[in-house]
Amino acid sequence: MWIDSGIYGTFEGRGEISLKDDYAAAINRDWAEKVKIREGAENVSARTLQTDNFTAAKIAVLTGEKTDDQDLTTLQNYYALLTDWDTRNQEGLAPLKPYVEDLMSISSVKEMTKYYSDPERNLYGNPVLKITFITEPQDPFYNMLNILSQIMLGDETEDFQEGGKESPALSRKRQTAEYMLKRLGYSESDAKAIFDTAKGFEQNFLTTVEGIDPTANYTVNLPVSEFEERYKNIPYADILRSLGYDIDFKGKVSIQYPQLLDSFNENYTDENIEGIKAWTLVNTLLEFTKYGDRETYEETAKINGTKIIEDPEAYAIDVMQTTVPSMLDQMYVNYCFDKSIKPKVTELTDMMLDAYRKMIMEEDWISDETKAGAIEKIDNFKLNICYPDKVYDAKCTPIKSAAEGETALDAIIKGRRFSRLWEQAMLSHRNDEGYMRYDVYYSTLGACYLQQDNSVNIFAGICGGDYYDPDAPFEKNLGGLCMIVGHEITHAFDSEGADFDKDGAQKNWWTEEDKAAFQKRVDKLVKYYSDLVPMPQVSDTPYGEEGARHVQKEATADLGALKCLLSIAKEQDNFDYDMFFKQVAIIQKEARYEEAEKEYVATEEHPVEAYRANIPLQNYDDFLNFYDIKEGDGMYLAPEDRIAVW
Ligand SMILES: [Zn+2]
Repeated sequence: MWIDSGIYGTFEGRGEISLKDDYAAAINRDWAEKVKIREGAENVSARTLQTDNFTAAKIAVLTGEKTDDQDLTTLQNYYALLTDWDTRNQEGLAPLKPYVEDLMSISSVKEMTKYYSDPERNLYGNPVLKITFITEPQDPFYNMLNILSQIMLGDETEDFQEGGKESPALSRKRQTAEYMLKRLGYSESDAKAIFDTAKGFEQNFLTTVEGIDPTANYTVNLPVSEFEERYKNIPYADILRSLGYDIDFKGKVSIQYPQLLDSFNENYTDENIEGIKAWTLVNTLLEFTKYGDRETYEETAKINGTKIIEDPEAYAIDVMQTTVPSMLDQMYVNYCFDKSIKPKVTELTDMMLDAYRKMIMEEDWISDETKAGAIEKIDNFKLNICYPDKVYDAKCTPIKSAAEGETALDAIIKGRRFSRLWEQAMLSHRNDEGYMRYDVYYSTLGACYLQQDNSVNIFAGICGGDYYDPDAPFEKNLGGLCMIVGHEITHAFDSEGADFDKDGAQKNWWTEEDKAAFQKRVDKLVKYYSDLVPMPQVSDTPYGEEGARHVQKEATADLGALKCLLSIAKEQDNFDYDMFFKQVAIIQKEARYEEAEKEYVATEEHPVEAYRANIPLQNYDDFLNFYDIKEGDGMYLAPEDRIAVW
């Protein structure tokens, strides 16, 4: 029926394509035939182009004039240090040496505890004490410390059998760590011995782990007093407090795989100190492969079969995005973003919420009772538009310039420490008070609905490019950014979102009958996608039942968004439908190499982009009538075959 017009080069030698037959292909063809994919990239799209826009804006500020804004100076110095590969290559791994020597001079677990407790000395932490966060079950507007115990070195069973062969993954870690140890001045045999000691320690403490099923999501919530009671050898609670985590604020911690913490505690003895040190060192080094000189970055990437980022500017942005993302966000809003956009996007969102309420009330397949639950959910949306009103109170230690004696590695260490401070500040805030969630970085390309706190998040980073232009006609922004906003709103009512209530709790607000009707509608959509072939010019394999279930939530969200927007369009005078529909297709423009497209189809929860335009459009009479699309045209879909869930 259609081609997958998102495959790079697919238009070559093709005859004319009518918009009545394949709308996305017809609208995006000119663009796709001219566009080039940048070296090293796998695609170019509305998304990547907007990413280029905000990245260029950030780089301009990072390399621009100095101001008396301390945070900006820190970011500018950080950027300059990261991009200065000549100096970094001269330094090699030398800046890491004092930290390694400090760790290796430890001779007891008492000293080791001090080391783990000191954020200035301890660069990485302790792998069984990996900090993440979860939503507080009793109050979704709070976050709770979640300890994710990880087995760091071995991945496969064979790695834990004494004398057994190492798995390829473990062998890559060995080569990486040994390479770095040698670069730090260790002899070949010492490097090997350190890795063997680390591996031996992990094997040993894992054999004392009881009853763990690594595939189960095994989490316990412990009051802090019990958490302290449970661990006598290694005082995890005190270590966390020393590092700055306010675990007493909510009085409990959540732990995934507590058996690993138990077992590490049991093995935390002076007798094992060499193993504990080696294990901590190896894990630290594995974390720092791309933070040293170029040779280390390239060699370790080769060992691990990972791609390096060639472009120094892109590399620096990537490192900053992983270490100080919230600082980049604030810089973007203060120096790159037109702040008058926020009230405008807020107004558009409010308009959409009104339309959405009306749309729900007009659905004829759910009862008033279920409608009330849906409306309540909309009324209680937490809206995070563009950027938050408040930011957490956390300051990065000023990063100085190279001239003032700072090294790139020092800067990275300060940046990593800052990201911990940021997490810590977040831990003691109720996050409905004008803060954006800690893991939402709004100067990137994104928008999301989060069911945990019933929030609709539209990032500043997506308010540009093909999506939004404050000077563009209403229709264009409606087909662009508002499609995204409507998509996120609809996620509150897709097959997963429908199970959560207005406070983000997993709770049923449906009548039994309405839920069954909803499921029937979802099944009809799944059936449609099951038979649909995602890349017809490459293979005739359809999505199939499993593939269809994988993409159904995203497909539901696109359809719901368009329906909501069409109800807004109907109320406008002289609405330019052509401009609106075109924009719906333009934000899905895509040119991706065929191999990458195969991977996309196999893994992505979103349908291929061309279908994300065509399928929602063909479901509504407003579109079909406007272009006079009739039975026999490729875009036609008979009323009885339509699949909108909402
Ligand atoms: Zn989505």
